[in-house]
Order: sequence, then C-alpha cells, then structure tokens
Amino acid sequence: MLFGKAGAVLVTGGAGYVGSHICKALGACGIEVVVYDNLWIGHEDFVKWGTLERGSLHDTEKLSEVFKKHNIRAVMHFAAFSYVGESVKDPSSYYGNNVVGTLALLDTMVEHGVSHLVFSSTSATYGMPLTTPINETHPQRPINPYGKTKLVIESMIDDFDVAYGIKGVKLRYFNAAGADPECEIGEDHDPETHLIPLALDAAAGRGPGLTIFGDDYDTEDGTCIRDYIHVTDLADAHVKALEYVIESNETTAFNLGNGNGFSVKEVIKAVEKVTGRPVNAAIGPRRDGDPSALVASSDKARRLLLWEPAYPGIEDIVRDAWQWYQKRFPSSD
Ligand code: UDP
Repeated sequence: MLFGKAGAVLVTGGAGYVGSHICKALGACGIEVVVYDNLWIGHEDFVKWGTLERGSLHDTEKLSEVFKKHNIRAVMHFAAFSYVGESVKDPSSYYGNNVVGTLALLDTMVEHGVSHLVFSSTSATYGMPLTTPINETHPQRPINPYGKTKLVIESMIDDFDVAYGIKGVKLRYFNAAGADPECEIGEDHDPETHLIPLALDAAAGRGPGLTIFGDDYDTEDGTCIRDYIHVTDLADAHVKALEYVIESNETTAFNLGNGNGFSVKEVIKAVEKVTGRPVNAAIGPRRDGDPSALVASSDKARRLLLWEPAYPGIEDIVRDAWQWYQKRFPSSD
C-alpha cells in the first residue's frame, strides 16, 4: 500500500469520464480515494470508489478543509474543461477554470506539504505534429486555448517543483476511449463531441447521423488518423505514474497512447462490426485545427512505468464502449 494505513489520494474531477476510471483502479489497489468535483460535468453516480466532496477548485477554504479532514497525501488532477471548440469561443472560462483553478490546487498542496501530483495533460499540447509517432521531446506548440491552458499548467508544475518541491507527472494522453470492461462506469458527455460515442449514436439510430470531418486528408482513406487508448489502460498508467512519482521524486512527462493509428473510416467499420448495425455517416467539411494524423510513441511509459496496454485493439475498445452505451441508454437495445 502506497501510504501505509493513513492517508488518501485526492482525485479532482473524479466524477468524470477518465477520473472515475482512475478511482476504480486506485480502489482496486486498496488506496483510499477522495473525489473533489463540482459535478458541473461529472456524474454523482460515477463516484463508487471513495468519498465525494462536492466543491470548486476556486473555493480554497473548502479545498484546504478537505486536505486536512482526509489527510491527503497525493493528488491526481483531472478537473478541467476539455472541449477544443468551446475553448476557442470562450477562452476566459478555460483559463479561469483550468489555469486559475489549478493554481489554487497547487497553492493548497504547498500549504499542506503535499508534494506528489499526477496531472491529466493532453496530446493537444503538441499542436501540429512535425514528426510521427510523437514522443515527449516533440515541441509543444498548442494551436487552441484548451491545449494552451494545459501547457501553462505543465509549466506551473515545473516552476512549483523548483520553488516548492512539488513533484508532478504530466500524462499527455491521446484519444481516451472505451469504458470499464465491467460496465460500472463509462463515457457520458453533454454535449457529446467524440467520434466513438457519436458513431454508436448513429448505429443505435439516435440523433441525425455522423458527420465525417473531411475525407481529403493525406492519409490512406482520406480521413484523420488518431491513436485511441482504452480508458482502463489509461487508469492503469495513472496508478503506475503515482507510484513512480512517489518513488522517483521527479517531475516528468509521459505520453499515453497505443502507438497504433486508426482512421475515422476504420473506427466506423469497427462500430458496424461490433454493433452489427450500419452507421449512417456523411462526409462533411474538415474541422478546424484537426491534424491529419496523431499517433503516440509511449516507449517512455512502457520503459519507466512498465506499462503495457491490455486492450490495444480498436474492436475491443469499441466493444466496451458499446456495452456501456447500451446500459446507459437502454432505449438503444
Ligand atoms: N470526428 C469526426 N466526426 C465527429 C467527431 C469526430 O469525423 O463527429 C473525427 C475528428 O475529426 C478526429 C477524430 O474523429 O479526426 C477523433 O475526434 P474526437 O473528437 O473523438 O477526438 P479528438 O481527436 O478531437 O481529441
């Protein structure tokens, strides 16, 4: 056990999609979990492992109280706004929630002498890829406010390390997808913008059908290629990253992806195969800011965290997403 008998891990945003899967993985390791979430995006019924403390990162009094009450020993930070398009239209909310909110969290960690952090960063900090696959030394030049807020936070962590000894592991994920194979939690965004749940909507006959954002990219079938990583594999990497930062006491970054790229059309084929239903899809214009291909090199995580994705196949990812989708939206049966 990481902290012996005493102490808990604070998971901000633990009622959200990725955060809740991390709570499940922490719970399975016998680690005490405290979820700090304002439930704007998160779901109360996703908090099944640990205690829910409802609050905002801006409420430093409450945050400080929670650190004290639960003897917080380390932090895993997911609470953030994460829609690229929305961040372009409303950067103020993104800098306010993501950057200012994280500053309050880091200050509270310093105040309570908590020095270990795992931070949910993103491949969006890289911007347009210059080389592929992308490793951690690739230049970080984000092209939208969402990616910029995450990069500012990465810099804050570096500076808080130098000044106050905060040690943070920055996990830059590619496309989080799928759902808990035991179907206890999964993806449920409002509005939903991600490819796999929207393709499942189309297969289930919900909504107007899927729009493929461009088929004139420089890829084999003309559609964008992304590296989809099963959310349970992400969760496993987070637990390993927490152990790593506590043992190594160093601030560093890891990419998390499969290292395999799948095109939008390949994802649609996988959805049709898994659901046994056609996906009503039409070609539309490109979406602003979409690079043609984003594929991770996760060699560093494999080497140093001894992490290996257990669900690298796109059909396995889609199968778990579909199982969850049918449970969450029963009318799709
Ligand atoms: N995509 C699409 N239609 C949609 C949503 C997404 O064609 O309705 C494409 C998108 O252009 C990208 C891929 O699917 O190439 C994955 O997009 P998603 O929004 O799921 O994740 P992102 O790559 O933006 O993190």
